[in-house]
Amino acid sequence: RVEASVIYTSTTEDFFQILVLLYDVTEIYAVEKMQMDFISNASHELKTPVTAIAGFAETLLSGAKDDPKTLNEFLEIIQRESKRLTELIQDVLSISRIESQSLSDQHLSSIELSSMIDEQISVLRQIASMKNVSLINNVPKNTVQKSDESKLVEVLKNLMSNAIKYNREGGQVEVSYQSGEQNWSLQVTDTGIGIAKNEQSRIFERFYRVDASRTQQVVSGTGLGLAIVSELVKSLHGQISVTSQRGVGSTFTVTFPTQSK
Ligand code: ADP
Repeated sequence: RVEASVIYTSTTEDFFQILVLLYDVTEIYAVEKMQMDFISNASHELKTPVTAIAGFAETLLSGAKDDPKTLNEFLEIIQRESKRLTELIQDVLSISRIESQSLSDQHLSSIELSSMIDEQISVLRQIASMKNVSLINNVPKNTVQKSDESKLVEVLKNLMSNAIKYNREGGQVEVSYQSGEQNWSLQVTDTGIGIAKNEQSRIFERFYRVDASRTQQVVSGTGLGLAIVSELVKSLHGQISVTSQRGVGSTFTVTFPTQSK
């Protein structure tokens, strides 16, 4: 898509001169469209729990509260939908915050990756134990890399909690590390439900969730986690990739350029 503006004209007896500037605005429009889509999807997603909360509260007030069983059931729905609303708002705010930060807005420090993973494991141990999923840290001790700690923690927290959420009962989540001359990477491998080939690029889109009818009821989520991870990885000048096989498991790899220490 091209936009043009005339910035100079002059006429002499023999010539007519005109200077026209052509701008390629394809990317600007694409970004604008993405932002509009995001706002419209976010509004839609936010409306769903709000409508449910309002509806169930109204039904209770118009008499349903007199039946103790209905009262309890509806209050539980209101509680669940409020939780969902909070998660959605937090994720939408995270995306906007990351987007509004400039790429140079980094707080780099030297991080010992093995203890960082240990900390995440202790945070996630409880939800993992509900499914008997074991969490394994294969990052060698004393592995130090320079990065923005809070961003990296957020990336790992999201990938590891997905690896638990979409795992099977009694499964495993393993975090490992690799490094070369120019790059280093962390891999989060799970023994979960896996992701079909045609879905593998789509899961990074905002609000995208695989096979809504099958997973959405079982596993709660906003569909924004991997979009947040992608933004964070991009802001750290890194890359994210996934390899996966349905019914076997998935590996998410985040790769970053090595920074001088
Ligand atoms: P959420 O988990 O909130 O739905 P995400 O953006 O984190 O959103 O993930 C998008 C979708 O990708 C999930 O709904 C799920 O279908 C799929 N997915 C993500 N991580 C995994 C994983 N480790 N194994 C299988 N599927 C996954």
